[in-house]
Amino acid sequence: MGDFELMFSSSRICCIEPKKPKTWSQKIFITFDLDWAHDEVILDTLELIKESGVSSTWFITHESSILDELRNLKDAELGIHPNFNSIQETPFTGIHEMENIVGELLGIVPEAKSVRSHSLFHSERLVDVFHEKGLTHISNCFIPHSSGIKLQPFSIWDDIVMAPHCWQDNVALKMNLPFPSQNELSGSYCVFNFHPIHVFLNTENVTRYESSRPLHQNPEKLIAKRFGGIGTRTLLIKLLDIIKTQSSDVLVDNI
Ligand SMILES: [Zn+2]
Repeated sequence: MGDFELMFSSSRICCIEPKKPKTWSQKIFITFDLDWAHDEVILDTLELIKESGVSSTWFITHESSILDELRNLKDAELGIHPNFNSIQETPFTGIHEMENIVGELLGIVPEAKSVRSHSLFHSERLVDVFHEKGLTHISNCFIPHSSGIKLQPFSIWDDIVMAPHCWQDNVALKMNLPFPSQNELSGSYCVFNFHPIHVFLNTENVTRYESSRPLHQNPEKLIAKRFGGIGTRTLLIKLLDIIKTQSSDVLVDNI
């Protein structure tokens, strides 16, 4: 039996209804930005999730046969991860460019309800584009758990749900952000943002990621660059173990 105080379970971003705390309170949301990773790199993360049985949300960047494997994964949700960086780098090309980028990805993932922009790009006009395209949940707001701000999801206009996240692997490295402890997780709403490439590399510092860039599409050689100590991969595995243990305690207590 687990300590009642520590109970929580996992869910998916599209299931959040801000007015119904049951859909997000004491829940952990494990999310992944694919960032055009090699199939083997994605598969590596997928296997960890499959073993754990934990719910997950995958923000898709590109067409791949791996998408069907993700669709077959228990309690997995497929959202989209559009890249608007070209819009940021060139003179504004108009709202149509945003619509095209979102529309193209929805052609690959027509079932998507949730979205997180690459580089967390966000704007008021973009929210309208997401809404027009049938997306209902946005996870573009990073508020580090170290800020001490107690997070929760909320609604904005057109009933769009905003699902802020409290931890993101690459930014945690940049900020030297500690991983939330089991006690900090209990009773909370926590959205985690991982990237399969950092899981694969078990990244512990930005240099490992940057210096291995030429091998990112070559998993056979990339595996030699995996870090052997505490890194993104070991943190994810530990988190999945905690959720798994807590969820099975809930089941036992419900019998
Ligand atoms: Zn990204």
